[in-house]
Amino acid sequence: MRWNTPEDWAISTSPAHPALVSEADFIAAQNIRATRDTAPDRTYLLPGILRCGICGRRMESCWSSHRPAYRCRHGHSSATTPDPNRPRNAYLREDQVLARLPALSIRLALGPGTTPPAVPEIVARLRADRITLTYNPADQTLTADTPRAERIAIS
Ligand SMILES: [Zn+2]
Repeated sequence: MRWNTPEDWAISTSPAHPALVSEADFIAAQNIRATRDTAPDRTYLLPGILRCGICGRRMESCWSSHRPAYRCRHGHSSATTPDPNRPRNAYLREDQVLARLPALSIRLALGPGTTPPAVPEIVARLRADRITLTYNPADQTLTADTPRAERIAIS
């Protein structure tokens, strides 16, 4: 037995059975999906890179005021008993960090010469080199966990 070539296929010009959805509905549904796929979603550039200077935990992504940010609750959650003595949550906006990454990358000598690479490339280099940045809320600095502990102020 052999398959027919496409030229020999019998293709009906009229629908062989009632359509489950109309062609118009199908196209409309596809457009909805395309819109949803291209809508801005919650994208974080720095997960896993930022560490809390108070407790040492990795800071978690949190969406705040329509922007990506990072916070640390120092191990507390809404399920744990409130402790009036615990330190305030650490909180850091992503754009504050991104604005200072070029300066940090020069100190880390991530790029050639004194021209900092583009921010996405800096982030990729931090990940590749497994460099984390520790945020100290008290003096608003980020310190790299490198031998020379390069530090930048972020405010
Ligand atoms: Zn913490």
